[in-house]
Amino acid sequence: MAWPALPAAIVGLAGAILGAGFYRAFAGQHALFPSGAVGWSLALLTGIIVGHLVAMGRARWWGGTGSGAALTLSVLLLYGWVPAGMVSLTVVVLVGVARRGRWRQGVLHGAVDILGIGVGALVLRAFGRIPSVERPWDPENWTLYSAPQVALVAVAYLVVTRALLWYLASPRGGVPTVARTAMVRQGLVAVALLGIAPLVCVVATAQPLLLPLFAIPLIALDSTLWIARARAEEQLRDPLTGLPNRQWLLERTWTALDDAERIGARAALMLIDLDRFRSVNDTLGHLAGDRLLLQIADRLRVALPRGAEAARLGGDEFAVLLPIADSTTSASRVARNLVAALGSPLDLDGLTLVLEASAGLAVFPDHALDAEGLLRRADVAMYQAKRDRTGVEVYESKRDSNTPDRLGLLGDLRRALDAHEVELHYQPKVRFDGQVAGLEALVRWVHPERGKVPPDEFIAIAESSGLMPHLTEYVLETALGQVARWRAQGLHVPVAVNVSPRDVHTPGFAGAVAARLARHGVPAGALQLEITEHVLLEDPQRAADTLAGLTGHGVKMSLDDFGTGYSSLVHLRRLPVSELKIDRSFVARLAVDNEDAEIVRCTVDLAHSLGLLVVAEGVEDDETWERLRDLGCDAVQGWLVAAAMPPDETTAWLRARGSRGWQRPAAALPAATADE
Ligand code: C2E
Ligand code: MG
Ligand code: MG
Repeated sequence: MAWPALPAAIVGLAGAILGAGFYRAFAGQHALFPSGAVGWSLALLTGIIVGHLVAMGRARWWGGTGSGAALTLSVLLLYGWVPAGMVSLTVVVLVGVARRGRWRQGVLHGAVDILGIGVGALVLRAFGRIPSVERPWDPENWTLYSAPQVALVAVAYLVVTRALLWYLASPRGGVPTVARTAMVRQGLVAVALLGIAPLVCVVATAQPLLLPLFAIPLIALDSTLWIARARAEEQLRDPLTGLPNRQWLLERTWTALDDAERIGARAALMLIDLDRFRSVNDTLGHLAGDRLLLQIADRLRVALPRGAEAARLGGDEFAVLLPIADSTTSASRVARNLVAALGSPLDLDGLTLVLEASAGLAVFPDHALDAEGLLRRADVAMYQAKRDRTGVEVYESKRDSNTPDRLGLLGDLRRALDAHEVELHYQPKVRFDGQVAGLEALVRWVHPERGKVPPDEFIAIAESSGLMPHLTEYVLETALGQVARWRAQGLHVPVAVNVSPRDVHTPGFAGAVAARLARHGVPAGALQLEITEHVLLEDPQRAADTLAGLTGHGVKMSLDDFGTGYSSLVHLRRLPVSELKIDRSFVARLAVDNEDAEIVRCTVDLAHSLGLLVVAEGVEDDETWERLRDLGCDAVQGWLVAAAMPPDETTAWLRARGSRGWQRPAAALPAATADE
């Protein structure tokens, strides 16, 4: 409990109120509870509702439900605070017996209820009403003025009980979103109760035997409440593992940071990502992948130190918040333990799998002062741990090439991807006879404040964090969806997608691409992947395996930006590519610079001798077009033909040129060569 003195005070005060009630009853020879038909009917109604609560189990409690409150309130209005307190006491005893393990909570909630009754009784007294079993406040005597009085008593009782329960249940300030939805819900319940409590009073005096029938609407009201509450909680939960989700984590982190700041402590956030999950998912299927994630989530729950909270951010990405961390060292020890716990062998129907995990750690206030900043820095550290295969890394600003500005952009990009705000445009590649050889998908992002962000810029940021695989998945998914749509409309045009070296080094990439093709019903021949020579820099063997896997599935590879790399020609033979794209820096000067023209000629000859198609990028004018044609280039791409266009425009462009292919505008054609 957040504040042990408060529960003790509540229970003590409630005990005193009850004691006073007993004293008053015995000293004044008052009855504690009505007898006869009314008494028995009320007792039966109470019994049914308590039975329902116990049967429903879980953390529900009298004071936190609608039915209990309605009943207490009507007894309070009719017979005053002593019998109402008796109802509370009976409920505490009954539920305490039924659920012994939680009797403490029962006593506390019962005490809160009695305090609410006490305040309600004070309001009644302010209106000069002191009902008792002998002299009930009979609804027959209610007048027009009674309505606001009843309403005020109900409000006082509700505000006191709900506020206290809310305060006791919420962990140090709680989660704002839940708080907001809970407030709205409680408000609605209050209205429903206002309606039902006076009716209970009327029936109790007129036809007490009918009282137990109130169990039906009261339980129904309760169930509605419960469903609404479950819904609100679902929005903050990951449906697969039941762990809280990203939104919950961020909000919880905000509160934790406030608290840490107040008491001058550290807080730590770690991001954990499974290393080979994607390939397992692709080989064994999504169902198996889901079951593995469930096992991982369970392990995380078990291995979590006291006070720590885990969340699933999506895919195979988890986060753990340590609201109080003694030091960076102790936080990284926790991270190591978690990574070790996740890395021990998993069992899937007798199949033993080992999934290693990498974790990145960022600490408040050392690395960032806000929740989002902490998450981004943990992400940067996690990527380092993954890349260096070290298991756990603590964020270090020295090693982070990301300025705060870049980090901001990274977070915005992640959100833009989640919100599907990133678009693909398509630029045609055409052969010299005008035939459309294919389209290249180029990513486009319009930032809400900064406007268009050049792909080179945000791709570099994505590459230096853990976001690149998400971006590539997004681009592949969008491009393949578009290819499938075009094919359905009879437009059979292959699409090229740019992939980063990081993708090629991601284990299971080839399998993931094949699975995605199958899901969209697109033949592998309709997809081309553009890679650069940089793929060979890091781990040539792994890259070669991935590329062999891709070509094995029938996906064509194209070598992009040729000429800007290092040992270009030597590598050409080692890469299973079928197309080579001459970088636009050579193409641009082709018409004016003989040396560049010579480089292009040699490249075309060499590529042809290796059986590769040659595409020139960045063709902007007729002269370049003609030179390229004379040099034997196979196809061109560039603003002369078309710039990258949004999907609809591309569809129109393809349709307009469907049968004849692309023709250079007549005005631009020199007369002598207008022979196409
Ligand atoms: P790239 O793959 O070499 O793409 C060609 C770039 O040249 C594109 O720039 C395109 O708009 C531009 N371009 C096309 N025709 C002309 C022309 O006639 N003149 C000039 N001056 N430029 C022309 P963009 O779209 O800014 O893309 C830049 C780079 O960003 C791409 O170079 C590619 O490496 C990367 N990129 C773009 N989209 C993606 C993607 O979805 N995934 C990955 N991994 N990288 C991408
Ligand atoms: Mg490209
Ligand atoms: Mg290029």
